[in-house]
Amino acid sequence: MEIAIIAHDGKKADLVQFLEKNKAILQEEKIQLIATGTTGGKAENSGFKVAKMLSGPLGGDAQIAARVAEGKTQMVFFFKDPLSSHPHEADINMLIRVCDVHNVPLATNEATAQLLLNAIALQS
Ligand code: PGA
Repeated sequence: MEIAIIAHDGKKADLVQFLEKNKAILQEEKIQLIATGTTGGKAENSGFKVAKMLSGPLGGDAQIAARVAEGKTQMVFFFKDPLSSHPHEADINMLIRVCDVHNVPLATNEATAQLLLNAIALQS
């Protein structure tokens, strides 16, 4: 299962903490992580193997949306920062829309991401 991880700048520390907390499940062989560029770099610094796309503002969210549309990405953890504005808002909305079009689970905050991950853990 391919899971995409994305965090806006104000949420990157939270995402890294979430990854650390869930290291055991996220490092299982059945899970492959992909990420927007900067988020992926942070995950790598914490010891995760991640396929990095472009940085979000440069098209990384759009690349992940394309993978969702193609059926390559099965789940998205998108730690959005609702308290700041983003130059690539159009891409962000596009990713959310594509997840809805293809019925792909999308968590836009940590609580939901944890519930999704717990569901995966139960399947093992
Ligand atoms: P980043 O992109 O991981 O390259 O910072 C995230 C985003 O802003 O969509």
